[in-house]
Amino acid sequence: MYKVAILTLFPDMFPGILEHSITGRAKANGLWDLKVFDIRQFAKDRHKTADDSVYGGGAGMLMKPELVAETIKLAKQEMPDAKVIYLTPTGTPFSQKKSIEFANLEGGVILLCGHYEGIDQRVIDLYVDYEVSIGDYVLTGGEVAVFPLVDAILRNVEGVLGNSATLHEESFDNDLLEYPHYTRPVEFEGLEVPGVLKSGNHAKIAQWRLEKAIEKTKKVRPDLYKKYLENKEK
Ligand code: SAM
Repeated sequence: MYKVAILTLFPDMFPGILEHSITGRAKANGLWDLKVFDIRQFAKDRHKTADDSVYGGGAGMLMKPELVAETIKLAKQEMPDAKVIYLTPTGTPFSQKKSIEFANLEGGVILLCGHYEGIDQRVIDLYVDYEVSIGDYVLTGGEVAVFPLVDAILRNVEGVLGNSATLHEESFDNDLLEYPHYTRPVEFEGLEVPGVLKSGNHAKIAQWRLEKAIEKTKKVRPDLYKKYLENKEK
């Protein structure tokens, strides 16, 4: 069973969408497990304060390091071999490759959600194994980023997708975006399904799909297309 822990100031946000559809079914079938840890539980004062001002000035607040550290230690007691991932816009970009890497972490993942300006650098230095960003934009909190991250990881966990073949022809395999798909009817609002897809000739279909994948990647992701060409030459 793949283990996920989420450390957050907003535990009520979970499991949220992860309890639905494919990930929800996989959880019900015991393929993965979720534990949510409330960082605020370690707050000592009456108001349960979880933030403090930033050294050096500025308007923002930072999460209190001792609360975050205590929560990580608690999660580690239950998942001693798990890797701690801090979700942050300053992290390494998350990718399909990373999702496979994380899905293969035997001890599972402990996901740390920041809020306000984020967390004290010393907590990162002492406890965090990976810093990961889900894109070049700033969210209000790490909780939002957890959903795409966990969903993408779980798709690579054995058994989560019933038919693992669906995993092997998807966007980002071989640095290409996926080719277009069609279903019935043959004609829809004046547009027809490309003839080759109805031909039954599997070699021709594969060739057409590769061409379309290349065309699409070249157009919308020239960076990825460059990688595709480089890897092809190797
Ligand atoms: N001051 C930070 C900066 O400029 O890099 C932004 C802090 S953001 C308002 C609050 C929290 O949201 C972060 O600590 C992080 O956990 C989460 N977050 C925001 N954007 C993110 C992103 N692109 N990827 C992952 N986590 C993100």
